[in-house]
Amino acid sequence: MDSQILLDLANKYQTPLYVYDAHSIIDKYERFKKAFQVKHLKIHFAAKALTNISILKLFKKLGSGLDCVSIQEIKLGLKAGFEPGEIVYTPNGVSIDEYLAAIKLGVKITVDNISILEKLGQAFIDKPTPIFIRVNPHLMAGGNSKISVGHIGSKFGISIHQIPIVSRIIKKYGINIEGIHIHTGSDIIDSDIFERIANLIFSIADEFEDIKSIDFGSGFKVPYKPNDLQTDIEKVGERFSKVFNEYCAKRDRDLVLRFEPGKYLVSESGYFLANVNVVKQTTACTFASINSGFNHLIRPMFYNAHHEIENISNPEGEPKMYSIVGYICETDTFAEDRILNEVREKDVLVFKNAGAYCFSMSSNYNSRLKPAEVLWYKNQDFLIREREEFESLLSHQIMVDLD
Ligand SMILES: *Cc1c(COP(=O)(O)O)cnc(C)c1O
Repeated sequence: MDSQILLDLANKYQTPLYVYDAHSIIDKYERFKKAFQVKHLKIHFAAKALTNISILKLFKKLGSGLDCVSIQEIKLGLKAGFEPGEIVYTPNGVSIDEYLAAIKLGVKITVDNISILEKLGQAFIDKPTPIFIRVNPHLMAGGNSKISVGHIGSKFGISIHQIPIVSRIIKKYGINIEGIHIHTGSDIIDSDIFERIANLIFSIADEFEDIKSIDFGSGFKVPYKPNDLQTDIEKVGERFSKVFNEYCAKRDRDLVLRFEPGKYLVSESGYFLANVNVVKQTTACTFASINSGFNHLIRPMFYNAHHEIENISNPEGEPKMYSIVGYICETDTFAEDRILNEVREKDVLVFKNAGAYCFSMSSNYNSRLKPAEVLWYKNQDFLIREREEFESLLSHQIMVDLD
């Protein structure tokens, strides 16, 4: 987005502020859709990446489905206008009660452990409910161990070595397996790994004659820096569609290909704007302290994630080196040794790639208020979340008088 527009929005709504460019989301969605040339393609936006209800509504408008990991996300999706059949529920480690509630709402469920599979079998013994089985392929994919969820030590999915147990349980209860699901986590760059995963999943799909769909989850990498490695979606789509179509033809199956991209669709749409409170020169470095912290954007502290940062208030300023830090009272570093155009107090800094896992991971730590969110669409700004106010902090607290 244009720096002047971002500056104007920072002025109008104050900072800290999240801004999302709807056109970036639309472009990414259309590009993803075009990359996979198969007969039946279903894209389910992973709601946890960016959960604002107006964003969910935008995805509904685009024809996307929704991937939810909690009962609350399902309810938000329904509120945004999704039909239950357009929502897939792919949680991890939730209670049987939450599964039953999701089934009652009519969404498609994915089971990722044998205990719940058995319990669902018992609960629906007369009227089997269609389910997806999440498989753990034990393939290490991607570079970050915190977000790579397909490896052998991962808590996600049912191990491929336990497929015989799954087969036994579904026979015993007459469970209807609608599909196989796999999600290996983030940061898969090349199409080789996708093909390897695909072939593994096809061999599992062979064992379930009635399945209608295969869900390959997500894991598409987006660039965070100039020249960063990223998933070449057209290349992945082309090679992947080929093996998928070949599999369907060879087995004479008319399968639905399902994906659940989150980061790919929204990461680059987001801009996080903050003002510089203090510029502090020490003997070691220069700190730029902003009016925010990891309570609003935790990815650098949590995952060592890199976000590009620019000083849009001083485009002609002389480049200098800064550590950009937040106001939380513990280590709270957004970036070290970054070159920015000279930073002055009150300047507006913009953080890129702030669409995915940024606002949705924010908190009220240090009793700070969560920022506002703005959606930019057809040259217009739409406030889609009000900034919290002091009362928000007290809204569920109970003040008791103890004597
Ligand atoms: C988080 C998640 C996704 C989205 O992952 P991205 O890396 O954001 O694309 C997809 N599917 C499941 C089951 C998830 O938990």
